[in-house]
Amino acid sequence: MNPFLDLGIRHEVVNAISEIGFEKPSPIQEKAIPVLLTGNDDFVGLAQTGTGKTAAFGLPLLELIDFSQKHPQALVLCPTRELCLQIAKDLEKFSKYIDNVHVVAVYGGANISDQLRQIRRGVQIVVATPGRMLDIIGRNAIDFSNVKYVVLDEADEMLNMGFQEDINNILSETPDTKKTWLFSATMPKEVRRIAQNYMSNPFELTVGTKNTGNANIEHHYYLIKAKDKYAAFKRIVDFYPEIFGIVFCRTKIETQEIAEALVKDGYNADSLHGDLSQQQRDKVMKRYRERNLQLLIATDVAARGIDVNDVTHVINFSLPDEVENYTHRSGRTARAGKTGISLSLVNVKELSKIRHIEKIIGKPFERKQVPQGTEVCEKQLFAMIDKVHNVDINEEQIAPFLPNIMESMQDLSKEDIIKRFASLEFNRFLEYYQNAPDLNIEAREGRRDDGRERGERRERSSSRGFTRLFMNLGSVDEFSRGDMLGFICNTAKISGKSIGKIDLKGVFTFFEVEDAEVNKVFEGFKDVDFNGRQVRIEVSGDGRSEGRGSGSRSRGGDRNRRGGDRDRKDRRSSRDKRDSGGFRDFSGKKQTSRSRY
Ligand code: AMP
Repeated sequence: MNPFLDLGIRHEVVNAISEIGFEKPSPIQEKAIPVLLTGNDDFVGLAQTGTGKTAAFGLPLLELIDFSQKHPQALVLCPTRELCLQIAKDLEKFSKYIDNVHVVAVYGGANISDQLRQIRRGVQIVVATPGRMLDIIGRNAIDFSNVKYVVLDEADEMLNMGFQEDINNILSETPDTKKTWLFSATMPKEVRRIAQNYMSNPFELTVGTKNTGNANIEHHYYLIKAKDKYAAFKRIVDFYPEIFGIVFCRTKIETQEIAEALVKDGYNADSLHGDLSQQQRDKVMKRYRERNLQLLIATDVAARGIDVNDVTHVINFSLPDEVENYTHRSGRTARAGKTGISLSLVNVKELSKIRHIEKIIGKPFERKQVPQGTEVCEKQLFAMIDKVHNVDINEEQIAPFLPNIMESMQDLSKEDIIKRFASLEFNRFLEYYQNAPDLNIEAREGRRDDGRERGERRERSSSRGFTRLFMNLGSVDEFSRGDMLGFICNTAKISGKSIGKIDLKGVFTFFEVEDAEVNKVFEGFKDVDFNGRQVRIEVSGDGRSEGRGSGSRSRGGDRNRRGGDRDRKDRRSSRDKRDSGGFRDFSGKKQTSRSRY
């Protein structure tokens, strides 16, 4: 038997929620539904966002309301227009198979006459943001005298936004006999006061530990210089080719600036903030929900309560002013039992804020290193190879072209085609990222320097007396480490003793050479071809590469140096540089993100 039936939910509703994938109740639903179904208690639910709160109160409401009557019996108050629309839509979905259910969403920024018309036609459930609700009450356009249930959703956020007085005024329009159900992610004293003032002996339920974030969220931070923030952010985004993220900024202006810069850099991004018209906000949300948008850049308020499944990353481009808001932000990922990452870009001064947040969420952050350019290249390359494996082939459409394609490729072996095809994408990324500097900074703070990071650094930089070099050949070229050692020694005419560590990667290799022998390597590899490809040697990205190199590096040198991490102003002011960076082609502006998932 379906466990929702066991809880006392009727068949029609169970059928509807089964269709949207609710197989078993979430913990808050399991605990809250039996209590709320009695209709006898006030209720306080302390639960994180994304735990299934909407159904926890929505399903009992559908059981308790008399849908043969057409007057308001339930009022749901919530802080934002997005959340308001979402709750109304969820209730409509849950009640798909019940007759005569009328839900109205009442929120600012949209045409009030449409909302008034819906109310006049008769509604049983009103979902509203406080401001517009008061407006409608002020017009005497609604009768709340038969309201039996009031839900205060995201109560802490409503109070944060200054709705205390509006809520008082709205509640005073409802009968004293009503039951009040309050949901909040946190329980500051202001929320506690509402519970005291408006409820009698409420049933209290805490799902998860108080204030504790969702256990499925990993919390990462990157320590960078403030001036490198945008470059580091882009690099992290590039390191996660399948990212579907929400990026939080502190102000509307910052939101807009970051979104604009990202779009100019070829990312699939847009902003969501309070200065947009309702129509614009709906449009952005629709694109994001449908995954035609990969990065949603938002302010705290605008993103409050956004329920989009499968958000892979929450990115705190700027940490929130109110550290408590961090929980709300990170709650946008790892919804419905999934996992997710909440990552923050911080400078040294902001580390104390990270420590403070750790206390609030009761979980430590993990320090991560901003990926090096080559790591990004490798990640993108393998993501592309995955895409090749998974691409949908439209046999019918491509069929007429195939004979010609086959003919023009017939002189190439399978290996050649694979290599060329991979290089097509990879070379451009490499060009963009080669010589990109390390953006990580040392933590001065003892506690986080756990040795791992230092160890990594040691590994990346060359050993004493050795120079670390890069070569554009790797294991895909069928080199083993031994082969590579032989290849270098024979070509550069140096002894194996002069070679240090060899780090063989997929399509490239890092190797150490005694400082005294470095010039021999450059000399030896000048104009060397390997299977028709020019072999390139460079000093690995530590700034010493300026003016050195063999093979084709020097051709793109100056441009590439700018490419990786040039500052935003530079990027935005120069179309040429943007177009020459090759970045746009990778981040997929021209493709819809739908094709990326
Ligand atoms: P909420 O906290 O109500 O915003 O819900 C978070 C997400 O979990 C939404 O996408 C819901 O559709 C989903 N959800 C809620 N309850 C369940 C359930 N019992 N089974 C699966 N998904 C659920």
